[in-house]
Amino acid sequence: MVIAVDFDGTIVEHRYPEIGEERQNAISTLRRLQNDGHQLILWSVREGALLDEAVEWCRERGLTFYAVNTVIPEGMSEEEQRNVLISRKVNADVFIDDKNIGGLPSWNSIYDIITQTSIPTKVIKKTSKSTPIDDDNLQLPYPAWMFWKKNRK
Ligand SMILES: [Mg+2]
Repeated sequence: MVIAVDFDGTIVEHRYPEIGEERQNAISTLRRLQNDGHQLILWSVREGALLDEAVEWCRERGLTFYAVNTVIPEGMSEEEQRNVLISRKVNADVFIDDKNIGGLPSWNSIYDIITQTSIPTKVIKKTSKSTPIDDDNLQLPYPAWMFWKKNRK
């Protein structure tokens, strides 16, 4: 999956424009998701030097992103800017943001939620009431990366 992740308040405590302390397990969880095959996009309101600082802060901790905020070139019309912003948003399958309704779960929970949301249809069908559950073949939770890799063949 393509996962867009916010920086201030999400990867680090909200101290914008300063960089706050890392939120517990944020970097290790993101690296783990990357190892599972997910593509991470840093999705932040930061721009210019402030954005560079955030990218560098992550890089120093072993986290490099597949993509960072689309930079909006100067001279674009308002409509073109809007299109860039819209495409930036729809290009991700999942967003991790401290402004989520209900707030930001712990990073350990975020990992569990992401790896358990992409349960293959086959397994879902087996758990429906009308179909008997085949205990021998039922493997829940089914790691998301397995499903993702299967689809890429
Ligand atoms: Mg935020």
